[in-house]
Amino acid sequence: MAKFKVVFDSDVCKGCELCRASCPRGIIEMSAGINSKGYSPASVAREGECVGCASCALVCPDGAIEIFRTEDSE
Ligand code: SF4
Ligand code: SF4
Repeated sequence: MAKFKVVFDSDVCKGCELCRASCPRGIIEMSAGINSKGYSPASVAREGECVGCASCALVCPDGAIEIFRTEDSE
């Protein structure tokens, strides 16, 4: 089964939470910290549950998310 890595550009993120709302697995959360723009950036809480649908990356208005396939296991 494929595994995926979800990479956020935390300094581009403006904390709009659209990615969190779009994730079918509910695994995106907003960080407790603040980025250089003064927003709480998004991050993935349980990356192992990501199904690689890329909904989060497609919905992000700032292109702050990239999805990578990391491995396939049998
Ligand atoms: S790729 Fe899909 S499952 Fe993975 S974090 Fe983004 S919206 Fe959620
Ligand atoms: S959709 Fe993009 S800008 Fe909005 S919270 Fe998610 S990563 Fe940040």
